Amino acid sequence: MAKRLDGRLLAARHEASLRSTIAQHLATAGCTSYPPGLVVVRVGDDPASGVYVRKKAQACGRVGIESRIIHHPATASQQEVLESIHQLNGDSSCHGILVQLPIPPTLNACQLLLAVDPSKDVDGLHPLNLGRLMRGEPGLRSCTPAGVMALLDHGGIALDGTRALVIGRSILVGQPLGIMLQQANATVTVAHSHTRNLADHCRQAELLVVAAGKPGLVGADWVRPGVVVVDVGIHRVPPQQPQQQGTQGTLRGDVCFSAVEPLASHITPVPGGVGPMTVAMLLSNTVQAWQRHTTVTPA
Ligand code: NAP
Repeated sequence: MAKRLDGRLLAARHEASLRSTIAQHLATAGCTSYPPGLVVVRVGDDPASGVYVRKKAQACGRVGIESRIIHHPATASQQEVLESIHQLNGDSSCHGILVQLPIPPTLNACQLLLAVDPSKDVDGLHPLNLGRLMRGEPGLRSCTPAGVMALLDHGGIALDGTRALVIGRSILVGQPLGIMLQQANATVTVAHSHTRNLADHCRQAELLVVAAGKPGLVGADWVRPGVVVVDVGIHRVPPQQPQQQGTQGTLRGDVCFSAVEPLASHITPVPGGVGPMTVAMLLSNTVQAWQRHTTVTPA
């Protein structure tokens, strides 16, 4: 039976460490009036985004980051959202800016992400930060891939020379993760919807990261015994049983957890795996950006 890579536990440890870093620097650097500040720019009313934004705000509160939300209606113009971002770029109480995706298709998301000051880009999606990642230079890293790397590190997973398969090539997850794994000396294949014989690729992988957004894509017959499985997918399954009626249903990932768990050496659960680590990395990036902006020496 696989060992679980517990994202909740590790995220709680990160939070404890960030809480003490913030308190310590506020106490010693004489910047009491200047706690770290994160602003989420949200456009429209995507319900899943509402849940994520609330969770991020709660996590900020737990560690001592001041957070606020600028919520534009779905009808907001590109110019209106850009103006919010420009104001935040010049706001010294705001150290991190996160443009909550997805935004309505009427707006140009790339242009909005490009408008964020790269030193406040706590989602790590500005082209400058993605370029720094490519070059292996220090910079703010994309939260979900950074969270996956932290989980693997904490689980003691050896990456050097490992055959890794990442399913999914989005800018948010698959692409940056493929680069991070390569930089850790794994031999990486990145699969996508045009990949032929995906099951064969999976069976060869010693590390399998699934970020396809397809519930239950990977089952027991796709994995080799002893594989390390990281499931990035999150899907809300509506209530199936009569006793679940009136509840929000359950969450599941891209991997058939109960079928794959007996075969794998390590596996992330959904929920409680990658999700909490994504939030933890957002907090960590915000504190990093704050430390730079307030010229407090990073711990
Ligand atoms: P995305 O932008 O939709 O990208 C999905 C990727 O998977 C694409 O590259 C697509 O290929 C590939 N793909 C789709 N179906 C496939 C298939 N049958 N076989 C192989 N590849 C396939 O999604 P995303 O933003 O990367 O997110 C992926 C999943 O992770 C979603 O479930 C999302 O909710 C979840 N997520 C979780 C967290 C977290 O914190 N846990 C954070 C972010 C995302 P093409 O490029 O060819 O279209």
